[in-house]
Amino acid sequence: MPAVPSGRVHNLINIGAYSVLAAGTLYATRQHLVTVTPAQAMNFTLAFTVGTFLLSPDLDLAEGRVDSKRHWGLLGFLWVPYGMLFSHRGLSHTWILGPLTRLAYLAFMTVLIVGLLRTVWPEFPLPRLLEPVSMKLLLPFALGYYLSQWLHLIADGVRPDHGVRRGYRKLRR
Ligand SMILES: [Zn+2]
Repeated sequence: MPAVPSGRVHNLINIGAYSVLAAGTLYATRQHLVTVTPAQAMNFTLAFTVGTFLLSPDLDLAEGRVDSKRHWGLLGFLWVPYGMLFSHRGLSHTWILGPLTRLAYLAFMTVLIVGLLRTVWPEFPLPRLLEPVSMKLLLPFALGYYLSQWLHLIADGVRPDHGVRRGYRKLRR
């Protein structure tokens, strides 16, 4: 197995790639080659940042000490079950499903915590679901998130055909 970049190296790679992409997009916009609205740029940036610093594939190590868990501060412990459930560089490091496992886990944890809070404090306000979001804004969000994940996987030397089957087997183990 090749040497795996540390969390800090991953962050630097992602920040570097973002800078190049942002400069390129700015240039292309000036040249009227593409049109990017400020809202689209913001959604992309937000998702890319969250994907880089808070939802890194290396959360599969959250049962121990890992950079991406530390970024959650006091809430870092919430990722410990994820780290125990997913073996390092298994399903969590696949190209399509991997990033979805973290979103699903986050959604599950949110529902669980809100549910717990509601039993203790029935008046606890339910998080209002976002207004129906248009595809135009959802797409940059998905792009930003997935790009942040894929840069991590590329840096890890994980190929797009990284065995989903192998990931499942490891998950069950
Ligand atoms: Zn990794």
